[in-house]
Amino acid sequence: MGKSTLFNRLTKSRDALVADFPGLTRDRQYGQGKYQEVKPYILIDTGGLSGESEELDSRMARQTLLAIDESDIVFYLVDAKQGLTPGDEVIAGQLRKQNKKVILVINKADRVSPQTLSTEFAALGFSETIATSAEHNRGITHLLDLAFRDMDDWQIPEQAGRGIKVALVGKPNVGKSTLINRLVGEERVVVMDMPGTTRDSIMVPFTHNNQDYTLIDTAGVRRRKKVHEVIEKFSVIKSMQAIEQGNVVLLMIDARDGVTDQDLNLLGHILEAGRALVIVINKWDGLNEDQKKRIKTELDMRLGFVRFSEIRFVSALHGTGVGQLYRAINQAYQAATSKFSTPYLTRLLEHAVEAHQLPLVRGRRIKLRYAHQGGQNPPVIVIHGNQTELVPPSYRRYLMNLFIEKLEITGTPLRLEFKTTSNPYAGKKNVLTERQANRRKRFIRQVKQSEKKRKYRKNT
Ligand code: GDP
Repeated sequence: MGKSTLFNRLTKSRDALVADFPGLTRDRQYGQGKYQEVKPYILIDTGGLSGESEELDSRMARQTLLAIDESDIVFYLVDAKQGLTPGDEVIAGQLRKQNKKVILVINKADRVSPQTLSTEFAALGFSETIATSAEHNRGITHLLDLAFRDMDDWQIPEQAGRGIKVALVGKPNVGKSTLINRLVGEERVVVMDMPGTTRDSIMVPFTHNNQDYTLIDTAGVRRRKKVHEVIEKFSVIKSMQAIEQGNVVLLMIDARDGVTDQDLNLLGHILEAGRALVIVINKWDGLNEDQKKRIKTELDMRLGFVRFSEIRFVSALHGTGVGQLYRAINQAYQAATSKFSTPYLTRLLEHAVEAHQLPLVRGRRIKLRYAHQGGQNPPVIVIHGNQTELVPPSYRRYLMNLFIEKLEITGTPLRLEFKTTSNPYAGKKNVLTERQANRRKRFIRQVKQSEKKRKYRKNT
């Protein structure tokens, strides 16, 4: 059906960053994309439905229906090559029951005309239909236009909230609500919906020691205050949105459960977003020394790849250790948003290259010329040189560690990017017209010929 191909087309994988942390398991089913470059969306790749009668009890179908429930829009993918199948009609019926905006995506529509296809699949009864070829990248922009046509309240992460934005994520019952009340002070939880915010994330502004913060709450403190208390169900989407909106993420882990797959999953999303991170081990109260030791060993083993982040042990219930979280948040924020000058970064780079020569590749030495900062939160350092795509992974790691150490970066991941810019004027060159190009070729040929002649003359 081409579901994965479409998924990859619609999500920009940020694997480069995550690839720096080996051994991380993560949920591949959720991906992020940007519509028109700036408008973020989250895409879920579901296991799918087969339309078989007995399937609704299967785990895959349940997961798929859960994902549909979590979403605003459903892309229902059918296969143009296979044509309409009886299963499609069953699924169409199931989708209609969900009361969601459904777009019928007829994929692999490379050969058959869109008109023929829409006629064929019209029986499914969806008014929004589009023919695509994920493989050949056709119809994809149109699909997004159709999907987001009525969407006018985009949440652009940078816009909402004031001060340091802190996303609090963790699995259900880890103690998020309890910690929010501790951090904010129960009586001061003035919860409000900021205009333009995503429906589900709740922004809790507060001030501590003259520093403004906005806590992005995924626990739903407000809901608990309602008469009909709704038990929050864990939503990956909500967590991802909070992570995306935050400057610093507090990842809460339950000391009594240790590091679970769900925790690692969240961690994967945090790293992918490049967010500053403080790991909060909660429910540290009432554990004996043995238990504490065991957990610390486990953290060491399983969270070795996020060594950059501070780990705090707290009891949200009793308030122990909570006071230190503000400092950890501030520090992570500062590291994530610090600014470094080009001369300073370049000097560090030069020292690094002097201390450890770069390898020769095909007889030429890789050259790294200068470095500048390409972004914040996470800090991005762009290194310019030649043949940079050939810088070996071990050397990249060496540079990464060196920058982390010299720039005193803690609490945030750092991203290194390499750019081959052998000639500083290379990017500024005018594009030649065909005539100019021909003239240039002729000129080069002439130079070469006259050189040959000269050599010939010299040798005779
Ligand atoms: P949430 O679902 O993540 O918002 O979790 P809650 O804040 O609702 O907490 C779930 C349960 O864990 C509640 O019964 C809390 O009282 C309890 N809890 C939260 N923090 C702690 C803690 O530090 N120690 C202990 N022992 N229990 C806690």
